[in-house]
Amino acid sequence: MRRSETGYCDVLVIGMGMAGMASALFAANRGLKVVQAGLAGEIPFSSGLMDLLGVHPVENSRTWEDPWAGMESLRKDIPNHPYGLLSRTEIESALADVFSFLDEQGLLYIKEHEQNVEMIMPTGMIKQTYAVPSSMWNGVRALKAKTPCLLVDFHGITEFSARQMAEVMQETWPGLRSARIPFPGKNNQGVLVTGEILAADMESRRNRKELLNAVRPLIQDARFLGFPAVFGMRRTAEILAELEQEIGIPIFEIPTFPVSIPGLRLNDAFARGLSRKGVRRLTQSRVLCLQQEEERGFLLRIGRDGRECVARAEGVILATGRFWGRGLVADRDRIREPLLDLPVHQPDGREHWHRNDFLDLRGHPVNRAGLEIDGLFRPLDRTGGPAFDRLFAAGSILAHQDWMRMKCGSGLAIGSAYGAVKGFLRTAK
Ligand SMILES: Cc1cc2nc3c(=O)[nH]c(=O)nc-3n(C[C@H](O)[C@H](O)[C@H](O)COP(=O)(O)OP(=O)(O)OC[C@H]3O[C@@H](n4cnc5c(N)ncnc54)[C@H](O)[C@@H]3O)c2cc1C
Repeated sequence: MRRSETGYCDVLVIGMGMAGMASALFAANRGLKVVQAGLAGEIPFSSGLMDLLGVHPVENSRTWEDPWAGMESLRKDIPNHPYGLLSRTEIESALADVFSFLDEQGLLYIKEHEQNVEMIMPTGMIKQTYAVPSSMWNGVRALKAKTPCLLVDFHGITEFSARQMAEVMQETWPGLRSARIPFPGKNNQGVLVTGEILAADMESRRNRKELLNAVRPLIQDARFLGFPAVFGMRRTAEILAELEQEIGIPIFEIPTFPVSIPGLRLNDAFARGLSRKGVRRLTQSRVLCLQQEEERGFLLRIGRDGRECVARAEGVILATGRFWGRGLVADRDRIREPLLDLPVHQPDGREHWHRNDFLDLRGHPVNRAGLEIDGLFRPLDRTGGPAFDRLFAAGSILAHQDWMRMKCGSGLAIGSAYGAVKGFLRTAK
């Protein structure tokens, strides 16, 4: 196998999910030399919504309008949740850095006075979240006011059904109607199309004109128009503004099932922006081995395209995710951390991983498995001390959180990334 050297960096971030992206951003913002390695993370599959904390306690399905009040309650009930290691000021500052960075890449997020907002999801369910891409904001407004609204989708689209959404919401939002039209430029009854194809086609002005002609006669009393999120990859704000001007009412995008265009836009914005900040990004790569060197931190072997490269780093941030990202793997009888075999907090025995009832409101203990960390976000070894001086962890690999049920995915990833970079700065030589 051919080998090359990437040289020395201050921080090597393992992972390209939200925690890896945020870690790379915070480290680069502090003037550090950063390398980021990994395969695609979960961002392209995510809705693009930024959750901070929606539900706690999960067994009561208690939702919070004020995520910060929810977090205070969470810290009291689950003190070893990663949020317990961060102050509100730190999390606010971390989120502000991420939102301003995304805005610089042309991806504006909107939130409302530090309160959670409600967004309609492709199942027709409503989800509480902290911030939404600007292309979805009119959907938050329409839902709040329950204004007469038309949801439109396209023949052949696989990730979205406007009719299902309108039917599920019929009782709570009587003014919600649905319609299905051929996608402009494709007389595609019976042919399946994906969001990615539609998003590319929406970049064409001719297609947008055709869309307007098809939608105009359907509007009737509607005061808002909702579509699946397919309005282009990079010029979404411009495209929506042009359509709104032509049609005369506000338009919004709704997240689709994965792969999601808002998720791809978010991934793309991080990738572009981090490269501009000088982060060296080793995409489609896997860290094969990580070992501590006596003098200068860590030596890593990284596999990419059948080649291997060697990198040296003063500190490493492990943002390798949970089972999906393969930051944790489940064997027949235990859950392992595969890179360093770090101790993983987990239930005693496989029979306790899941509760008997799949839909148990408390969730499953396996979904709170992960690495335990100290106050500087360093994974602990079997003695309870930091496994390495300058190894840090962030994101869904951390123990004592069930981000999916608590609706805290992005907030947890961003907050813990901030904590990990802060930990590095505190311990750096
Ligand atoms: C379908 C779906 C919908 C979601 N919707 C939302 C939402 O609406 N709102 C919200 O806030 N969050 C949402 N999330 C969650 C959000 O994306 C989280 O922030 C995320 O799950 C946690 O990110 P992470 O960075 O910890 O892990 P991951 O995204 O899993 O990333 C792990 C990374 O580590 C890399 N990796 C692992 N091992 C190695 C190795 N040895 N070498 C190199 N790289 C390695 C992987 O390749 C990957 O890049 C959603 C997630 C999914 C899957």
